[in-house]
Amino acid sequence: KESTARENNVAKIKVVVRKRPLNRKEISRKEEDIITVHDSSFLTVHEPKLKVDLTAYVEKHEFCFDAVLDEQVSNDEVYRETVEPIIPIIFQRTKATCFAYGQTGSGKTYTMQPLPLRAAQDMVRLLHQPIYRNQNFKLWLSYFEIYGGKLFDLLSDRRHLLMREDGKKQVCIVGLQEFEVSDVQIVKEYIERGNAARSTGSTGANEESSRSHAILQLAVKKHTVVPDTRRRDRDVVNTKAVGKISFIDLAGSERGADTTDNDRQTRIEGAEINKSLLALKECIRALDNDQIHIPFRGSKLTEVLRDSFVGNSRTVMISCISPNAGSCEHTLNTLRYADRVK
Ligand code: ADP
Ligand code: MG
Repeated sequence: KESTARENNVAKIKVVVRKRPLNRKEISRKEEDIITVHDSSFLTVHEPKLKVDLTAYVEKHEFCFDAVLDEQVSNDEVYRETVEPIIPIIFQRTKATCFAYGQTGSGKTYTMQPLPLRAAQDMVRLLHQPIYRNQNFKLWLSYFEIYGGKLFDLLSDRRHLLMREDGKKQVCIVGLQEFEVSDVQIVKEYIERGNAARSTGSTGANEESSRSHAILQLAVKKHTVVPDTRRRDRDVVNTKAVGKISFIDLAGSERGADTTDNDRQTRIEGAEINKSLLALKECIRALDNDQIHIPFRGSKLTEVLRDSFVGNSRTVMISCISPNAGSCEHTLNTLRYADRVK
């Protein structure tokens, strides 16, 4: 069948690395760019090292991924490389997840922010295509955050949400607000509203949001009008899930190492982040190996995403890296993580 062929064209798991440019501060500190992108799938990290006698040398580390995007690549090209190919199959009962992974400051939010909006644009356009026009498909949006192992709805005053598993082992987030979005302007407004509600804490927005995972979901649902069983003179609308794509701006990967911090709260959050990033890696690997048992229960993050991993699913991991020598250790950690997921 044609639809099957199309679905198979999109890899089940895709791992993409994106390098950001040196920023002004790094340039003024005369920091070196230690990342060379060779072609669209290879890169080298030139790690500055010192011998015992303090002479400097460089250790080279080579990596290969499905795609490596250098600092010249625009957000639009990132979209085309990662999310665009998945959009049509969301309308054919596929669940997809797109993650941004990397240390704080490596470009996760910069990369992730425009993607749902571009996706919504394409999805709205598809809804109006002749093949779907009569199906009565609608687009729905939700936006929430996982912070310290707890769920907060970013579109309803950070309401604390609980998860429940039904008899069919379907995970449901009780009370999560979902909104039907018929055009891109509305999507934009919800995204901005949700962004404003992200964890800010006392230390400032960037600091705290680096300790949370933000999850924005766009779901395609089929609406059918059926007679109301209680009142004959009325109809009700039934909605049935078709497909879904989740965009996940993960907590800063270096936060998982905060487990020895002096502050107790920071330690607890660090341990939770560490657990969730490890569980995520294990789940993606299990998916890739077509394992029957996927270790969802390892963390809140993977439990929440469980329904996106089972059945017909697609996963895109965008690993963001900083180019400066000072970030070398974190960059190598990020690339090794991505390498294990591949
Ligand atoms: P993170 O979310 O991983 O902490 P950000 O996305 O906030 O990182 O990026 C840190 C800074 O670098 C921001 O000021 C952002 O605008 C800038 N930046 C990130 N990636 C790029 C890029 N590819 N091109 C230009 N600027 C970038
Ligand atoms: Mg960020």
